[in-house]
Parts: sequence; structure tokens; C-alpha cells
Amino acid sequence: MSIIIYAEKCTACGQCVEVCPFGVLRLEGEVLVVDEGCNLCGACVEVCPEGALAVPEAEAPAPRPGVPPDGVWVFAEQRQGRLAPVALELLGEARRLAEALGVKVAAVLLGDGVEHLAPALLAAGANKVYLAEDPALADFCEGPYTSALTEIARRFQPEIILAGATYLGRAFIPQVAAALKTGLTADCTAFAIDEDKRLLLQTRPAFGGNIMATIITPRTYPQMATARPGVFKRLPQAASGEGQVIRVELNSLASPQSRFVRTVEEIKERLPLAEAEVIVAGGRGLKEARHFALLEELAELLGGAVGATRGAVDAGWISYAHQIGQTGKTVSPKLYIAVGISGASQHVVGMQSSDFIVARWPTWGW
Ligand SMILES: Cc1cc2nc3c(=O)[nH]c(=O)nc-3n(C[C@H](O)[C@H](O)[C@H](O)COP(=O)(O)OP(=O)(O)OC[C@H]3O[C@@H](n4cnc5c(N)ncnc54)[C@H](O)[C@@H]3O)c2cc1C
Repeated sequence: MSIIIYAEKCTACGQCVEVCPFGVLRLEGEVLVVDEGCNLCGACVEVCPEGALAVPEAEAPAPRPGVPPDGVWVFAEQRQGRLAPVALELLGEARRLAEALGVKVAAVLLGDGVEHLAPALLAAGANKVYLAEDPALADFCEGPYTSALTEIARRFQPEIILAGATYLGRAFIPQVAAALKTGLTADCTAFAIDEDKRLLLQTRPAFGGNIMATIITPRTYPQMATARPGVFKRLPQAASGEGQVIRVELNSLASPQSRFVRTVEEIKERLPLAEAEVIVAGGRGLKEARHFALLEELAELLGGAVGATRGAVDAGWISYAHQIGQTGKTVSPKLYIAVGISGASQHVVGMQSSDFIVARWPTWGW
């Protein structure tokens, strides 16, 4: 698809040719021609004095003809038989999106000997679970996971696929999007539905976190996005837990280009930030590393964890494992106490889902 040219209005003034950032517009005599590679940025539309150019209307992308669309899917990430919390969070969000679209929610579970995880996915909001088991899926390797999810998506045609922006999701979900020849918006922090056009509105920080951009993928199918762990909430109450488990026999799995050797447990924080219901976070306003001891004492009393801004981490007062924000962790505790923190957008994006935020006003830059 490319820009629309109303030839009868075009005066061949050439202004659009000059501004096209991709160099795909040219004049052949008096005729404006669009070459391959137009990405519909609209720069030409803005400069055309005659209104001779237009971006085609965004509309919902279509599934394969004859195959009914299969609703909103969540990739149910598991490792060593344990579900990643982000899968359950995304099922809660998928339920909300599916209700707006009037469709069902499905979880896609890949692994070997993982059927026992299906009830938890149904309770977290899935109406059905696609289950593919194979020894090659026992431990994560990009090749087999990519071909499994791609094959299942081609067969059942979801409208939307959501996955966690975890190490695992970041490693293979872009490859699935490429195989399906569709778009992917990474690291989203909010979703909504344009009900008229059935489009997924995918919001994420852009330009270093200074603005929030809402992105649509209106011309390719399915619509795919990843979201950071801790951004979305699980369903407040467990769903009925009823639903189908559909076992999918895969035709072929790509042989892995990498080889799984072993899993190394990461160094554990006393209480992982992502799980803490109370977080006491400190910033540059603490002035010195030793003042973090005060936050640790308070966090201990409240049964919580200590977070930090990049400012405090860069100052060497606390380790990177505690950093919250765009380049740190995303958290959603019940209570977030910000001490000596200015509330820069890059920090706020990592903790804005907290239920209650205690911060010094008007210092907090929100
Ligand atoms: C690409 C990019 C990514 C980034 N990623 C992150 C990220 O993941 N996380 C993150 O946090 N930042 C991130 N940043 C940095 C971010 O822009 C801010 O610089 C940082 O969050 C500021 O940290 P701060 O609030 O500790 O420091 P400051 O902005 O310096 O704020 C210190 C605050 O302490 C207050 N204060 C001073 N004295 C006292 C006192 N005695 N009592 C109480 N309050 C006091 C001040 O009034 C001020 O509000 C990123 C920046 C960029 C460009």
C-alpha cells in the first residue's frame, strides 16, 4: 500500500518529491510516481498545496479469507514449568481488550510436560488454551519457539497477539512477527481498542521517554505487541476457570541454531521489586549512599523492597538491580513511597501503575 495520488489535482510542483524522507517519490515529466518503499509517513501530504495526496484510511487488517478471526492471544511464557507473572497480567488485559472487540481470549502454551499450567491460564482469563508440547520446546530456544508460535498463529488466525517484553519474549517475538510479515510494537505500557476500526492502540514511551506514542498496525495481520512485566494487572478475581485446552500437533519445528546448555539462576533480591506490594524508592535527593539505610529500614518495617532512580544508581549509591524506570524495572506495588525523587518521565514510566504514590509535592514532576 502506498500514498494516494489524485492526478487531476497534481500540478507537478515537486514539493512532495523534495520532502519525501525515503526518496520514493519522483516526477516523470508532469506525472508523479511512487516507487516501492512508501511507508505512509505523510510528509508529502503535509506539503502538497493542492491537496493532491492522501494517506489511505487506517482500517482493521483482514485475516486469511475464509478463516474466522480468533480473538486476542497471549503467549503464556513459562520456564521450567513455572508461568511468568507477565503472562497472567496480560491475560487480565487481554480480557478487557477482547470484551471491547466482542471476541474470546486464548493463551498459547509451549513446552514439554506443561499441561498442568493450563488451569492457571483459564483462571487468569483465558477462554481456551492452545497447548503444543514437544521435547524441542522443553527449554527455550528461539528457532523452535518461533516456528511453533508462527505455525499456530497461521492455523488459527488471532486478531491480536500479546507477549511479555521479557528476555525470552524479546528474543523470539520479533522473529514471529517477521515470519508472519506483520508489525510489532515493543515495550507497550498501555493498550486500548478503536472499536470502529477494530484496531489495537499500542502506547509506549518514545524519544527517550519524553513522549508517549500511540501506535497502530492497520495494514498487517495479526496486530502484535509486547508489554513490560508489572505494567498490567491480573484479573481482580479469578475467572471461572472453565474453557478448552486445545492440543496442537505441530507439523515441523525449526532446528535450533543455538543449543540449550543449562539454566543459571539469577542473583535474587531479598524481595523482588516486581513482586513487592510496598516499595520505598530513593533518588538523588538522598544526597549520600548511607541514607539509603533509612529507606531499607522503612522498607523492612513495611515488608517492602527498596527501589531507586537512575540518578541514585549512577551515583553508585545502590545497585542497578534496584533501578525503576524506562531502563530499569517496571513495578506496580500497592504503595510507592518516593524519597528525593523528582519524578522524571523516564522514572515515572516504570512505576505509574502503583495504586498509591506518596511523593513530595510540588517537587514531583508529574
Ligand atoms: C534514555 C534515558 C533513560 C532513562 N532511564 C531512567 C530510568 O530507568 N529510571 C530513572 O529513574 N531515570 C532514568 N533516566 C534519568 C531521568 O531522566 C532522571 O534524570 C532521573 O530519574 C532523575 O533521578 P532523581 O529523581 O533521583 O534525581 P533529580 O531529578 O536530581 O531529583 C532529585 C529530587 O530530590 C529533591 N530533593 C533534594 N533535596 C531533598 C531533600 N532534602 N528532601 C527531599 N527531596 C529533596 C529535589 O527537589 C529533586 O526533586 C533516564 C534518562 C534517559 C535520557
